[in-house]
Amino acid sequence: MSRPSATERRMGWPSLVRDVKGLRARTRYPIETGSMVIPVGTEGTIEDSTAWHRLRFRTAPCGCCGVQMRVNASRGAFEPIR
Ligand SMILES: [Zn+2]
Repeated sequence: MSRPSATERRMGWPSLVRDVKGLRARTRYPIETGSMVIPVGTEGTIEDSTAWHRLRFRTAPCGCCGVQMRVNASRGAFEPIR
């Protein structure tokens, strides 16, 4: 996946992948892993990235049970929030 477009930059994506660490974001669609489904709209933090196609996302703690989930997905699965 290439670097963010001008539109994505306006959405809040930085131009350099190294600058995504710590960015707050929410999921744009449900993300399924082998053991769970993270719902659309889940808020969290981009923990790390080695490339635009591999962002590591950690959800904020669930409001009822405190569980957090971690998943790797592409940039298109998330939108930055402020
Ligand atoms: Zn919960």
